[in-house]
Amino acid sequence: MHSPVVVLGGGPGGYAAAFLAADEGLEVTIVESEPTLGGTCLLRGCIPSKALLHVAKVISEVADLGAEWGVEYAGGPKIDIDLVRARKDKVISNLTGGLGSLAKRRNVTIIRARGSFINSTTLKLDGDDASIPEGGQLTFDHCIVATGSVPAMPPAFDIGSDRVMDSTGALKLADIPETMLVIGGGYIGLEMGSVYAHLGSKVTVVEMTEMLLPGADRDLVKPLSKRIHKMCEDRVYLNTKVGSLTEDGDKIQVTFEGPGKFGREAFDRVLVSIGRRPVTKGLGLENTLVEVNPRGFIVCDKQQRTADPHILAIGDVAGDPMLAHKATHEGRVAAEVIAGKSSAFDKVAIPAVVFTDPEIAWAGLTEDEAKRDGIEVDVEVYPWAASGRAQALGITDGLTKWLVDPKTHRVVGCGIVGSGAGELIAEAVLAIEMGCEVHDITDSVHPHPTLSETLMNAGEVHYGTATEIF
Ligand code: FAD
Repeated sequence: MHSPVVVLGGGPGGYAAAFLAADEGLEVTIVESEPTLGGTCLLRGCIPSKALLHVAKVISEVADLGAEWGVEYAGGPKIDIDLVRARKDKVISNLTGGLGSLAKRRNVTIIRARGSFINSTTLKLDGDDASIPEGGQLTFDHCIVATGSVPAMPPAFDIGSDRVMDSTGALKLADIPETMLVIGGGYIGLEMGSVYAHLGSKVTVVEMTEMLLPGADRDLVKPLSKRIHKMCEDRVYLNTKVGSLTEDGDKIQVTFEGPGKFGREAFDRVLVSIGRRPVTKGLGLENTLVEVNPRGFIVCDKQQRTADPHILAIGDVAGDPMLAHKATHEGRVAAEVIAGKSSAFDKVAIPAVVFTDPEIAWAGLTEDEAKRDGIEVDVEVYPWAASGRAQALGITDGLTKWLVDPKTHRVVGCGIVGSGAGELIAEAVLAIEMGCEVHDITDSVHPHPTLSETLMNAGEVHYGTATEIF
């Protein structure tokens, strides 16, 4: 069988590339080893985690009402774990069904198989699905590799116990363990830890570096860190490595190598969330001209082209940041490049969001990056304590900050911590992408009383005209 365009992998990078290539008038086939399209994001990542985080948020907001507002629901939440799980699964099936219809409408062929390269223009298809063509081979003019990533599980933690989970296992929500250890204080560990904590587990977080969310802006992490400490009743072990995991009856014995914590402790479950690795092994890339860097990512240029003229790569497999919207955008670029357009991806302002309570979001340059690269910036911070809306909502520990080029007054970066930061950051992305000067933001009328005003107010800080809105 021949298909002019083949997309290997049907996640948010792959299906977006396939649909857009079909919209460009190209004949497209997706090769996906899972029974449905959706990839990590839809089946075991962004969407199920956010469905569960919503439950966690409601529980925590109701608890806050009792503590601060004088409204208490007697007896606390009563959780039916089967219903919580069923609702999460329904969200996934609604969306996978929708993707199937979108593929059909565009005449995109879907082959359910594991694909690997025999050479630069041929894939071998393994599996037993009826969609696999006779001979088990598929030739193409262009192939977009979108095979994504999988959770990293070092051999020392891979002890063959179902009490030790990765993020995929945690999202299955088999039960609510009494105690749970989260290894890794990155965004996946903190999001999943928040879910289990609010559903009733006693959660402990261990992180090898000196802070939660290593690499993120410290001002943004501070309020979250306070909240995570409260949620975990101070069981947050920083600067601490996990030495070993051992199954011991119905517990996992864990050894910690301080200074944050030394010695042994037992947990009912352990979530290993120490990062993800790109899926490049077993793809037969050695039979092509594609180059892979030492971290396992496929090397590609701004047009998503690899060193092999027939092969492009997008999404998690094509490098950091491993985020769904970055994968989708690269998918668009790859489809347009194959269609003969001069598209390229200039990674100026890819937003990152941590969907914890409070949320953290940033886009463009960060203060650390500016310091590291010797870039001069003005940092304009507006604390949410001065926002009428934040006061009304009782979320005054948030803040909004702009990074501004002092010579041009253009906004070059933005960071927000607080409820809804993930929605608010979209305005900053647009402003940075469009090369807005600070006055473009302060001159735009923002609705009152909303948290979006804090973007305008942080801009006013630049001119010394910020007001407190009560
Ligand atoms: P993937 O989504 O990983 O899809 C790759 C697909 O390729 C898979 O379906 C796989 O089955 C298929 N495949 C692999 N090898 C083969 C082969 N040889 N043959 C055929 N098919 C193959 N990102 C965000 O932006 N926001 C979030 O809130 C967010 N939350 C997350 C929460 C969790 C718990 C996790 C784990 C991830 C989260 N992510 C989030 C990351 C996001 O899921 C990924 O960045 C995104 O899915 C990457 O898309 P992709 O298309 O590159 O790859």
